[in-house]
Amino acid sequence: MMQQYLRIKAQHPRTLLFYRMGDFYELFFEDAEKAARLLDITLTTRGQSSGKPIRMAGVPFHAVEQYLARLVKLGESVVIAEQVGEPGTTKGPMERAVSRIVTPGTLTDAALLDDRRDALLLAANMHRGVLGLAWLNLANGDFRLMQCPSDALQAQFERLRPAEVLVPDGLALPLLDNLAPALRRLADWQFDADTGTRLLTGHFGTRDLVGFGVEDLPVALGAASALYDYAQATQRQTLAHVTGLTVERESEYLRLDAATRRNLELTETLRGEAAPTLLSLLDTCITSMGSRWLRHALHHPLRERSVPTARHAAVAELIGEAAAYGIDGRDGRRAANVRGALRGVADVDRITARIALRSARPRDLSALRDSLARLPELDSALHACEAALLLEIRAALDIAPEPLALLRQAIADEPAAMVRDGGVIASGYDAELDELRAIQTNCGEFLLALETRERERTGISGLKVEFNRVHGFYIEVSRANADKVPDDYRRRQTLKNAERYITPELKAFEDKALSAQERALAREKLLYDTILDALAAHIPSLQRIARALATLDALAAFADAALRHAYVQPSFVDTPGLDIVGGRHPVVERQVDDFIRNDARLSPTRRMLMITGPNMGGKSTFMRQVALISLLAHVGSFVPAQSATLGPLDAIFTRIGASDDLASGRSTFMVEMTEAAAILHGATEHSLVLMDEIGRGTSTFDGLALAFSIARHLLEKNRSLSLFATHYFELTRLNLDYPECANVHLDAVEHGHRIVFLHALEEGPASQSYGIEVAALAGIPAAVIRDAKRRLRMLENQAVDSGPQADLFTSLPEPEQDVPMSHPVLSELADIDPDALSPREALERLYALKRLAAS
Ligand code: ADP
Repeated sequence: MMQQYLRIKAQHPRTLLFYRMGDFYELFFEDAEKAARLLDITLTTRGQSSGKPIRMAGVPFHAVEQYLARLVKLGESVVIAEQVGEPGTTKGPMERAVSRIVTPGTLTDAALLDDRRDALLLAANMHRGVLGLAWLNLANGDFRLMQCPSDALQAQFERLRPAEVLVPDGLALPLLDNLAPALRRLADWQFDADTGTRLLTGHFGTRDLVGFGVEDLPVALGAASALYDYAQATQRQTLAHVTGLTVERESEYLRLDAATRRNLELTETLRGEAAPTLLSLLDTCITSMGSRWLRHALHHPLRERSVPTARHAAVAELIGEAAAYGIDGRDGRRAANVRGALRGVADVDRITARIALRSARPRDLSALRDSLARLPELDSALHACEAALLLEIRAALDIAPEPLALLRQAIADEPAAMVRDGGVIASGYDAELDELRAIQTNCGEFLLALETRERERTGISGLKVEFNRVHGFYIEVSRANADKVPDDYRRRQTLKNAERYITPELKAFEDKALSAQERALAREKLLYDTILDALAAHIPSLQRIARALATLDALAAFADAALRHAYVQPSFVDTPGLDIVGGRHPVVERQVDDFIRNDARLSPTRRMLMITGPNMGGKSTFMRQVALISLLAHVGSFVPAQSATLGPLDAIFTRIGASDDLASGRSTFMVEMTEAAAILHGATEHSLVLMDEIGRGTSTFDGLALAFSIARHLLEKNRSLSLFATHYFELTRLNLDYPECANVHLDAVEHGHRIVFLHALEEGPASQSYGIEVAALAGIPAAVIRDAKRRLRMLENQAVDSGPQADLFTSLPEPEQDVPMSHPVLSELADIDPDALSPREALERLYALKRLAAS
């Protein structure tokens, strides 16, 4: 038994091996220790190996799914070795073979998958500064490739959020270990582009890959090679549902770097929670397919505006907005009908994949049947639609009637969970099965008849004919009547008060009934497989349906949000800039009672808004809302505003919030500057840039100088559309030199001893920063506040005496000129030669300098 174990283990050295022994899956050696630790199960020992007891841990077979789910969440993979062959038929130990390999990125099992998010398997390959990525969503067969510069690694990981990552052994990137939850290193040769081409042409049955447009992507093809091989090996199946290969280009999407995705809290808060986020707000999808579509879409705003525009038109039609009446003319009936019809639709997407992988369970098929049966209702909900996207969806939902007809005929109304339990195939579908089942059903009648007959024959009125699992059929007679039984009764079992018998007639019946049951089960299994085969022929159209359902569900959720929260249809124009009237922050507005709407206007003559105002004034909220409205528009949703007109956009950059990236050993300031550097290198005229309090993490002058120069670079070189929030009041003077930098501010008023934030954006610079008032609000002790106020007055007076500090930059000499040394202390200092002084002389000179400074 152990030899067999070691043989299998040798093929999967780096994966936990669950080894079936009777009612348990056992783990041994290091696997046992690891599992005991991760799963909190008992570690025991058994037998010996090289003189030492063998460590062992096990989980009961019926609860294995829940343990697998926990391990997969932790990024672990598991190989399952089952007993094969019938117990007792082979000599020696039971034969075992690997039946399943479960890894975080290759899940298709409903019990292990999170239904609201995709689990992607990703392979990353790198060659001479080029990053090649290939990723596969095995739960629906979506397979994609991309090549991009290698510094985009982090952004791509943040976008795709893979569940498992394959990389070549030779690729040493410290970043990877932080980024990838389940990292698996494969031999470098597995990332070979030619092998990739060969594998994929073989899979798709094409002569070459020209049709997929991947010819010029060797690095990504190398990744695809490793990925395909790995996925296939874990499934031990051809991946019939992988029917295409899509190439993604970086330029398709609005560029959002890793920091921006986090900062905007699209699908996760900065603290890593699921709510409140943009997704948690918008995701009222009825199906999990819709939720997954939405999650993906929020991370993939499209640069090209035709697709989002088509989505807007579809949402408008779902809302039923009569143009003449605007927001008040919405009836929302169509959206409600669509959402009503989507209720009860199952995860067609994942069921289709399981059909392809031959792992669909009976209830997958009944759920698919019930879902397909709902399509006519959806069709009528879309009746008379005109939006092109809705017409497209309607067409995709209209498929050949065979799959539904087959499922209706073949699958029982409420099938058992497992084929091996029987009761899966509907009666009337197969004559042979019906006959075998009839034998079992007729069983009851036969037994009643037999009982009556035998009572008459023997004259024993208490005689009973019964069945139990252990002893089969029998005739039971009380002990008192035992001497009355006829000669053809054979004793089967003796109880305390009764005897049990069998007769030749009953025995013959028993054989027939039991074998009928076995044969019926075998027949069901066979039929089930042919049904899966028949359905497999419809995979492409089922996939099309799944995509259409997901899109429709998400569009209806957009419509629902628009109706409930009064979002409007944004419009795209070709002139650069944006014009948002009455904009709101979609998430914050749900959390406060009176959200104040704000306009935002950016154009070539007003490229930058320099935003000042007190802490808590609403600067961050305003900036984020502009970014979120822009993003939502490019995703295809309506937006929280009275109107929004957007020019071309290629990226959204943010430098918001301060967080230490301790994991990679960078301080707050370092993170801030790294993000700023990425912006200054990457932002273009069509980029939206959000800079929140840049330069805060260092000394005042350092920070101010950096903030000033960064703003100037953005204005002069990047020429981006920028929102720049700052506490450095000095920056408001930038607009003297750069009229395209407009000052705006958020205000507060003092009301008695309280401070009231107005949250309304006004033109011009702020008049006060109210820092001390906000500190008081936060509960800083009164004595500290009084002291701070005194000190502030002192500093302000000094600033007035020594000339306005704001002039620091406008009169800044060019760097190559030396600043003249004006103060006498400085010339005195310049004359000192420290090496020529004794300690005592040095001290005296120091006192002299201090006197001079004070004079
Ligand atoms: P700042 O960045 O200026 O410090 P924030 O944008 O973080 O301020 O806003 C602080 C709080 O003020 C928010 O959490 C929100 O509760 C409230 N707030 C911000 N903007 C608005 C608004 N337009 N209307 C109502 N409340 C707002």
